[in-house]
Amino acid sequence: MQDQLIIYNTLSRTKEKFVPINPGMVGLYVCGPTVYSDVHLGNCRTFMSFDLIYRYLLHLNFKVRYVRNITDAGHLEGDRDEGDDKFAKKAKLEQLEPMEIVQKYSLGFHDVMREFNTLPPSIEPTATGHICEQIEMIKIIIEKGYAYIKNGTVYFDVEKYNREFSYGQLTNRKMDELLEGTRELSGQDEKNGRLDFALWIQAKPETLMKWPSPWGWGFPGWHIECSAMSSKYLGETFDIHGGGMDLQATHHTNEIAQSQACNHKAPVNYWMHTNMLTVNGVRMSKTAGNGFLPGELFTGDHPLLEKGYSPMAVRFFMLQTHYRSTLDFSNEALQASEKGYARLMTSIKTLENLKISDTSTSNIQELQNNCYNAMNDDFNSPILIANLFEGARIINSVNDSKETITADDLSVLKKTMHDFVFDVMGLRPENNNSATDKALQGVMEVILEIRKEIKAKKDFAASDKLRDDLNKINITIKDTKDGATWSVQ
Ligand code: AMP
Ligand code: ZN
Repeated sequence: MQDQLIIYNTLSRTKEKFVPINPGMVGLYVCGPTVYSDVHLGNCRTFMSFDLIYRYLLHLNFKVRYVRNITDAGHLEGDRDEGDDKFAKKAKLEQLEPMEIVQKYSLGFHDVMREFNTLPPSIEPTATGHICEQIEMIKIIIEKGYAYIKNGTVYFDVEKYNREFSYGQLTNRKMDELLEGTRELSGQDEKNGRLDFALWIQAKPETLMKWPSPWGWGFPGWHIECSAMSSKYLGETFDIHGGGMDLQATHHTNEIAQSQACNHKAPVNYWMHTNMLTVNGVRMSKTAGNGFLPGELFTGDHPLLEKGYSPMAVRFFMLQTHYRSTLDFSNEALQASEKGYARLMTSIKTLENLKISDTSTSNIQELQNNCYNAMNDDFNSPILIANLFEGARIINSVNDSKETITADDLSVLKKTMHDFVFDVMGLRPENNNSATDKALQGVMEVILEIRKEIKAKKDFAASDKLRDDLNKINITIKDTKDGATWSVQ
């Protein structure tokens, strides 16, 4: 099965057969969060998309080393080489040490990832924990002639690099086009070229997070950390590098340039980019003010939210759209996902009590193949979900005695539903052990018993009314030859 996986590679702009460097093993690097504030739902979409990818690679029995970094230094406002340091600014605002900011928001990020049932990466390196590696890499880039020093700041020489390699391959843009999009250098600029970027930035007297280096006290530029940490843990060339689409043009383009200049090798075989979560068509971000937090989403405490949504309903909502398409947030879409998620979970419960027959009316093997085909085609989760809904339809039909299933097919169906719903999509049943759930179970047993007594007295009008009233609050009663059953729709 491992040899059937197809991945869309941003670098070639085509779908390619996935061939790992070492058979059976995958090196995966994903740019993690900048921990100077709470992660919003847009960030979560990217991390959930890579969680699906990681889970499916594991399901295919690949041995995966998944590295997702924490950016805890060097990220300046506006993602460029000027402006305030994001951590220092927030530290001043909250009257905390910059490392207290880092700790606070790293813990918050991990809590949110746990709520959404994402698997932790194999290694979670921090920029501040790898200053030596970054300095070493910068030294080599200078030695090889692709960087220059100005007043204690080290800049990458994009023009020089572009003469030997091609800068901007990831977005398929030539230097001239890229230059058009940047402003002229002013007299104050130290850079030689408009596209040059900082590898190391000289500390100002007020800079709090700074380290000694051959060029004086300073801190690393934003891009060098990912080049240094990915090559340290995955090698000079590794299999998959991922991140949000907004990182392609600058962060990842510069990562490729740094690594290629240092090692004279392309660092990554497959570049994968996730599309953005939008609200009314506008990208969710902290600056746009439309970036609500997972906590607000769970409680419903935000002007854009009609009510609260559970973490699994949100996860299901995210997976209903392919990772390369934009996903627009709306209350209606989330409410539809809530129902879809509940339908899937109910069918998995029903699966446990299905009766077997001598023949099957549906082709279960084909259903299983379709699930694999969907995921092998660049991790197509919406098609996977359509197939799982077909599985749910078969389960309900067999339960209603409209279709039949053999013992062998039933075990394939169980395995398919469990593998894809729990292991691959990372969904989990919610609240089914809570006191409220247990109470509901008890109440429904009492109601069904009362209804049985009403029916025994032939008061069918009353028993139908009871069924219809329950239906209005989304509880469905079904009369089978073995008695009545109930489910929440
Ligand atoms: P940051 O903490 O800003 O470095 O972002 C962490 C990750 O979230 C990056 O991979 C971004 O590309 C991604 N990201 C940011 N905004 C969105 C969004 N609206 N939708 C999806 N991913 C996003
Ligand atoms: Zn990165």
